[in-house]
Amino acid sequence: MASKFTSAATPTYPGQEGTVYLICFGGAFHHARHYIGWCKEGEEERRLSQHLGGKKSGGSNLVKAAAEAGLPVRIARTWTGKSRNFERAIKNQRNAPRFCPCCNGELPSE
Ligand SMILES: [Zn+2]
Repeated sequence: MASKFTSAATPTYPGQEGTVYLICFGGAFHHARHYIGWCKEGEEERRLSQHLGGKKSGGSNLVKAAAEAGLPVRIARTWTGKSRNFERAIKNQRNAPRFCPCCNGELPSE
């Protein structure tokens, strides 16, 4: 089925499995310390470089701005074999530090 919504960066389909990644800024940037996203499996490093390029590169201006503020932005954690529903579930908890090994000495059990 054709969709009029297309994305040059990462075409996605509901229920498609991929990788959910958690980017940690290593410190607070305004109210944010983390960015959670979804990509096709194995593409998280490419997505991170897109984020560092900001919207122009198909990434997130938040991540770009945090990096430009001098924060050590990096991928702290990934979950493979997950759909975008999982990404949404984590975002909805609004408690990313709990899932972040950099901000939380212990990994939560899944
Ligand atoms: Zn963190």
